[in-house]
Amino acid sequence: MTRKSLLMVGAGLSGAVLARELAQAGHRVTVLDARDHVAGNCHTQRDPDTGVLVHVYGPHIFHTDDQQVWDYVNRFGRFRPYTHRVKTTSGGRVYTMPMNLHTINQFFDMALSPQEARALVAAKAQTLPEPPRNFEEQALSMLGADLYEAFFKGYTAKQWGCDPTALPAAILKRLPLRFSYDDNYFFHRYQGMPEDGYTPIVAAMLDHPAITVSLNTRFTKDMARGFDHVFYSGPLDSWFGQDSGALGYRTLDFERLTHDGDYQGCAVMNYADAAIPHTRITEHKYFAPWEEHARSVCYREVSRACETEDIPYYPIRLAEDKSLLSDYIRRARKETGVTFVGRLGTYRYLDMDVTIREALDCAAMFRDHAAHDQTMPAFAVTP
Ligand SMILES: Cc1cc2nc3c(=O)[nH]c(=O)nc-3n(C[C@H](O)[C@H](O)[C@H](O)COP(=O)(O)OP(=O)(O)OC[C@H]3O[C@@H](n4cnc5c(N)ncnc54)[C@H](O)[C@@H]3O)c2cc1C
Repeated sequence: MTRKSLLMVGAGLSGAVLARELAQAGHRVTVLDARDHVAGNCHTQRDPDTGVLVHVYGPHIFHTDDQQVWDYVNRFGRFRPYTHRVKTTSGGRVYTMPMNLHTINQFFDMALSPQEARALVAAKAQTLPEPPRNFEEQALSMLGADLYEAFFKGYTAKQWGCDPTALPAAILKRLPLRFSYDDNYFFHRYQGMPEDGYTPIVAAMLDHPAITVSLNTRFTKDMARGFDHVFYSGPLDSWFGQDSGALGYRTLDFERLTHDGDYQGCAVMNYADAAIPHTRITEHKYFAPWEEHARSVCYREVSRACETEDIPYYPIRLAEDKSLLSDYIRRARKETGVTFVGRLGTYRYLDMDVTIREALDCAAMFRDHAAHDQTMPAFAVTP
């Protein structure tokens, strides 16, 4: 095998896993990131006032069914058991989430069995022309107006910045309701929280003699000179200077607040009412229940349209974004010497386990192509 010189744009999970795998395969890897830290959006750090480990870019819970991915992350740091449970405030009352039998009984002030609750929800569900034309119609046909308005209407409008009638029905694929008291947010076999946060895990992945990391370094295309191949985990449209337009994202504003003792009694409290501007408040010390802190730090989270200088968080992927995306994909496929990876490079929401799975598969693909002297394609996964 010829030893290749590779450039990884981005030191998030995509860049770190790819760098590690390809360094181990004998290649030389340079990783650069515009930020002053590794780990991308999973970055965690100690809050200087309270000592609490904070999820700087929003709450991150690791959950997966992928045995290989679970074993992989556990190689680089210790995970502690953690079960994510969420509450929501609606109309001045607190309910358990995701919507389950307890939520229904709380909301309707009843003590229904699973079967009775099913019958109640079925009776409340609206009969509308098929197929549902948008998110609102889909929700009404599954839940009826009471539950939809209490838990979905305002929250969805705040999260996506538009009326739910402007969102596709497909967003709500399954009935978002459980007829049991199970309030574990995730169904996956493995769920956990890294004892020391995500950043030391990513740093351990990057700790290899064949990997060089440069932080505070924003990629420009001239930096690709001299490298055999570039893996780019930055925004796809930025590779082209957004010359056909900007792909739509939602960004988040986090307002930090500190508190003596406990602030809200749980890690995440959603706010469903349209009149309350924030979508949720995260109390970070609840992500590390094995630690003790006298004080607490919380992030109050507001979602809004992403402008040029903002951090892109959630890809919007509505019709006009998808048409622009097709244009960028077509152009990207004509590029040589670059593969677009990760959540920004492929303009998709990806959970961490999926990000790692895709990076492992992409590294395997590169090794295979290098072994056969073939050119690596622009995408290992079609966006
Ligand atoms: C609010 C929020 C909550 C989430 N919660 C969860 C959760 O609970 N569980 C879960 O599994 N997943 C969660 N995720 C998803 C998780 O954040 C992603 O899976 C993960 O961050 C993807 O890693 P990545 O390396 O592809 O992208 P990123 O983490 O975004 O890393 C990309 C890196 O590239 C750098 N970069 C970009 N452009 C340039 C450039 N031009 N030059 C240099 N550097 C550049 C960026 O600075 C960044 O560090 C959440 C995502 C969000 C937005």
